Amino acid sequence: MRKIPIRSRRCTQDGTFFNPGDIYLSALVEQKDAWLRQDFCQKCAEQLKPQGHFWKGVIPEKETVASPEDGSLIAVFKKFYAQDHQQSFAYLFALYLERKGIFARRGRAIFEELQSGEVFHLQPVEVKPEMARQLSEILEAHACPSV
Ligand SMILES: [Zn+2]
Repeated sequence: MRKIPIRSRRCTQDGTFFNPGDIYLSALVEQKDAWLRQDFCQKCAEQLKPQGHFWKGVIPEKETVASPEDGSLIAVFKKFYAQDHQQSFAYLFALYLERKGIFARRGRAIFEELQSGEVFHLQPVEVKPEMARQLSEILEAHACPSV
């Protein structure tokens, strides 16, 4: 598990600062020991042909933090994400957070936390019944609606 940098506050190419409501394009390149992330303003993005993982997004209108409930779910998710042997479960967790509107899917294997712009790389896996059960238990402990 290698950490992916969060969205930059300005365009990689021309340095334009991002403002709420701006459309941006993020591109990720997988390197040996790290992810290289580049974020571009709409103007620069139009002239680019990014390769690898890339997606368009909109800068959130307000710099709000996640609600306490969402924040604690994200914290639990990150604990699993940080462990190499929990990547399958973390993937299922990410799907749940996507359904709740906390994450957005950015291509096949990338999820973005919408408020912070933090990005997670998870290979899709087949969801097994015991994984769904484990997730239900975690959600119950957090008083969240089940899957
Ligand atoms: Zn730019």
